Amino acid sequence: MSEAEVPVLNQVQQFLTRKHGLYIDGCQVASESEQRLTVYDPASGQAISSCADASTEDVDKAVMSAWRAFVDRRWAGKLPAERERILLRFADLVEQHTEELAQLETLEQGKSIGISRAFEVGCTLNWMRYTAGLTTKISGRTLDVSIPLPPGARYQAWTRKEPVGVVAGIVPWNFPLMIGMWKVMPALAAGCTIVIKPSETTPLTMLRVAELASEAGVPDGVFNVVTGSGAVCGAALSSHPQVAKVSFTGSTQTGKQIARSAADRLTRVTLELGGKNPAIVLKDADPAWVIEGLMAGSFLNQGQVCAASSRIYIEAPLFDNLVGDFEQAVKSLSVGPGMSTQAQINPVVSRAHCDKIGHFLEDARAQLAELISGNSGPNHDGYYVPPTLVINPQASLRLTHEEVFGPVVNLVRVADGEEALRLANDTEYGLTASVWTKDISQALEFGDRLAAGTVWVNSHTLIDANLPFGGMKQSGTGRDFGPDWLDGWCETKAVCVRY
Ligand code: NDP
Repeated sequence: MSEAEVPVLNQVQQFLTRKHGLYIDGCQVASESEQRLTVYDPASGQAISSCADASTEDVDKAVMSAWRAFVDRRWAGKLPAERERILLRFADLVEQHTEELAQLETLEQGKSIGISRAFEVGCTLNWMRYTAGLTTKISGRTLDVSIPLPPGARYQAWTRKEPVGVVAGIVPWNFPLMIGMWKVMPALAAGCTIVIKPSETTPLTMLRVAELASEAGVPDGVFNVVTGSGAVCGAALSSHPQVAKVSFTGSTQTGKQIARSAADRLTRVTLELGGKNPAIVLKDADPAWVIEGLMAGSFLNQGQVCAASSRIYIEAPLFDNLVGDFEQAVKSLSVGPGMSTQAQINPVVSRAHCDKIGHFLEDARAQLAELISGNSGPNHDGYYVPPTLVINPQASLRLTHEEVFGPVVNLVRVADGEEALRLANDTEYGLTASVWTKDISQALEFGDRLAAGTVWVNSHTLIDANLPFGGMKQSGTGRDFGPDWLDGWCETKAVCVRY
């Protein structure tokens, strides 16, 4: 351990050595299956823990636990203010365990301990408290109707929002705690019950927060966790007949499989999928803002961010200077383990993902693309990828149009804003985009014409609990966050009374 590395807390060591089961009916239970899945530290490639590889029987047990908890109304039947109080207590407990959860996240996922503290836990707390507050704001509308029969009859009509039922939450490995809580919290705020499946690569923090939820007073069976493979556990969960809604975040390919299987039973789905997100830098942009904003927008969490800026289109007059500035910034990044407080780039999540990014770069090298790379990692066993700029990549490169989901960003010279806009929108994805300019008219014009669920001006990747988020085109369906967030977790019932 280098001097700058954070010492691992005793409770984290102890948690890693536990033989984790599944979290069903408010306690850890052993899986029906003897199979275990190994959890690795991306900084060293060493095994640090393991989790159960849930079978379809295990998934059924968890869903039926959530189903019983839903139908007997042990959660939805509480006063909204009581549910809100419990969820706020849950947030307080997560806050009290900030360092423990942050360390677990860094050890299983690889990201910087600073990012784990500030984002995985710190930002998650904002979302938790925001969503807890929505519990007491659920409301319908009164509606005047024009029903003419029988003559003289009078009517009062209104809508009620009711929880959809059992929710299946399926979570990727890039922000395991934060994205997991983006599913748990709206489900619980709406009065649903949930079974959540973290990625097999990063299962630990969800198992720990489920315990904290019980400690806060969330009734048994309301919040269940199953760990296991996507192919078995994830597929069984998302296609279970008692699941009323699937909230999925992950790749477009898996999202489509889930949507197909949900179509058979008309299960509700929200899909937050991939992106190949453009940033357009116009010639009047402030270079310092661009470098600060797009270095973070591109390299935060090693680029393993669905909203990351991965294609930067720069108007010709600024291009050469900005490429120089980006090069300097990338080469100055220190690369090291997530537990180091000084490393700015950390390992990616797994050996498989490291190899996948490597193949994109090999393809680019084979086609003689111009690559500018920063520092390499400190050892060969960790899953390090140097931060890399690709200058004017040709259309034939895979990384020009496919999502790399790593610390690799394309810098492209464009003649003018129109060319940038055409290239920016020439993608099957539509998750996020940004435009960089001091001209308010240009900002508004580009904001309208960029085909993405979120468009930023002079920033990128900045999200907020009160700002709806989701994708257009192949980046998904549905919106999370914002004042209407719970609509996706509720049915609207119309009530019409003759008097
Ligand atoms: P995957 O689609 O491979 O996995 C996501 C989750 O789905 C994991 O829990 C996985 O389990 C599970 N899963 C895999 N196969 C199935 C299946 N057949 N049925 C049900 N569940 C399944 O994505 P990644 O984990 O590789 O995540 C990266 C992707 O997620 C990127 O494309 C990224 O853009 C996208 N993403 C989108 C975000 C958004 O908000 N739009 C945010 C973050 C990521 P397991 O891992 O155990 O196999």
